[in-house]
Amino acid sequence: MSINDYKGVLVFVEQRFNEIQNVSLELLGKGRKIADELGVDVTAVVPGSDISRHAQLLIEYGADKVMLYDNKALELYTTEPYTQVVVKAITEEKPEVVLFGATSIGRDLAPRVSARLQTGLTADCTSLDISEDRLLMMTRPAFGGNIMATIVSPEHRPQMSTVRPGVMTKMEREPGRKGEVVNAKVALEKNNQFVEVVSFEKEVGTKMDIQEATVLVSGGRGIGSADGFEILDGLAKELNGLVSASRAAVDIGWMPHDRQVGQTGKTVRPNLYIACGISGAIQHVAGMEESDLIIAINKDKDAPIFEIADLGIVGEVQKVLPLVIEEIKKINA
Ligand code: FAD
Repeated sequence: MSINDYKGVLVFVEQRFNEIQNVSLELLGKGRKIADELGVDVTAVVPGSDISRHAQLLIEYGADKVMLYDNKALELYTTEPYTQVVVKAITEEKPEVVLFGATSIGRDLAPRVSARLQTGLTADCTSLDISEDRLLMMTRPAFGGNIMATIVSPEHRPQMSTVRPGVMTKMEREPGRKGEVVNAKVALEKNNQFVEVVSFEKEVGTKMDIQEATVLVSGGRGIGSADGFEILDGLAKELNGLVSASRAAVDIGWMPHDRQVGQTGKTVRPNLYIACGISGAIQHVAGMEESDLIIAINKDKDAPIFEIADLGIVGEVQKVLPLVIEEIKKINA
């Protein structure tokens, strides 16, 4: 079989507690664009239990075909059964491109699938494009984020990549869009790699996800202390936003890791990102440069963050922010 026999884009759709994850809709959006460029279809592969209700949603977000692998054993993610299902789907469908979310599930699953299919995998891609000769150009940070590397897989199929949540954009939902739904057969082959999930403890908490916020007030080492973040909290409250942080602020212990923006944190694209006392290192910028409006406050007029900011304020955060908060309070009153 030649690599030209592989056609189409396949997206692994991730559900957790039977809820489709946003990253899968984002990948369908990107998959749709790639498929349109290549003149092929997008297939969504969904392993889970009692999942038929998701099919139409996935079609409306860009899938031409939805393959439902419905089995009680697939209700919760475990490596081996999911690998079997995805390998089977790829072997039958022969797509040229396969996309996974770079989530804890995708990062566990995709390498195993690629090893079984003896093809390559590019992890944590930040952009995907099609070359003139129909190759998938998979771009990701390399060498500690100092350069961007574009990787191709000219000799093996499928071309597989994982993409972090928040990097791609969903297509606008098209209600009533038509597509094919297949109830695919699953015969799981029990082997010594099977594990049994005894129980699932869901962490309870009121934590909000910075990837969902429309406004982020982000603090770096320039904030000076954990207490210094209170002032950022004050601004975030006035703007209905959340507080996020640079890695330096997280490493010192001023903020928890789930608030970290950047290459080893989360990728965010809020409507407004206010960078306070953040220098603008490439690894930080990689996680926030797609924000609609970026405001930077930094006491160093040469700080690199000003190169990507739409609006820059040169000054001490501790002096500037109280004035900003006061003005916003007047507007909100
Ligand atoms: P600094 O670089 O120390 O900058 C502090 C800034 O605050 C300076 O510009 C200073 O002028 C300003 N300042 C100081 N006092 C004040 C004040 N009173 N008022 C106003 N401004 C003030 N970083 C991330 O953020 N996210 C990542 O995910 C990430 N991943 C990484 C992955 C790798 C492999 C590597 C090698 C690095 C990574 N980093 C990441 C670290 C990154 O390189 C920087 O070290 C980090 O972003 C610096 O954080 P910072 O801007 O808060 O601190």
